[in-house]
Amino acid sequence: MKNIVLFGPPGVGKGTQANFLRDLYQLIHISTGDVFRYNIKNNTALGILAKSYMDNGDLVPDEVTINMLEAEVDKNSNANGFIFDGFPRTTSQATALDAFLNAKNAPIKAMIALEVPQEILVERLVNRGLTSDRPDDQNEEKIRHRFNEYKTKTAVLIDYYTKQNKFHSVNGVGSLEEITKRLQKVLDAL
Ligand code: ADP
Repeated sequence: MKNIVLFGPPGVGKGTQANFLRDLYQLIHISTGDVFRYNIKNNTALGILAKSYMDNGDLVPDEVTINMLEAEVDKNSNANGFIFDGFPRTTSQATALDAFLNAKNAPIKAMIALEVPQEILVERLVNRGLTSDRPDDQNEEKIRHRFNEYKTKTAVLIDYYTKQNKFHSVNGVGSLEEITKRLQKVLDAL
């Protein structure tokens, strides 16, 4: 079972690359951002709760996010493995994920971080905001706040997975195909 955390700051290309990897390795792709947006669209209790946080670029509280993620995993009990995209984003989420997956004898194999300079990311997100209806992409201040959330709460996970010898870094600048090839090289060596 190949359980992979695809990691990196907002706009780095996790969702795009996760879709390619899902097809190449027959994995289940879980994007916590997508699950939240689906719930917002359908006006569920979870969506209503998550919306105010997301619209401001804040992280959704851990307990809510962890429960949702575990439910998504349990919906796919026959999976070959999972690509986690946008989760974990805090140390509490990472320890909860380890406990949850270790109890299933299906631990995380690797955390793969996509690396792109921040100024390129801000530009990508501002551009995405022109065509998407995502409220959190609509102004630069919110985008910068999301980077701040990443730096203060999420980036520490690089140490967390390095200590477990699971950290890998991949250059996220280049064509989509080039980046997929770089990711495949890491995955194939696991
Ligand atoms: P991006 O990484 O480009 O900002 P995502 O779709 O991954 O986009 O996340 C959008 C928003 O969803 C986040 O800013 C946050 O509010 C919420 N979110 C997604 N995943 C998590 C998580 N693991 N923990 C808390 N909040 C999350």
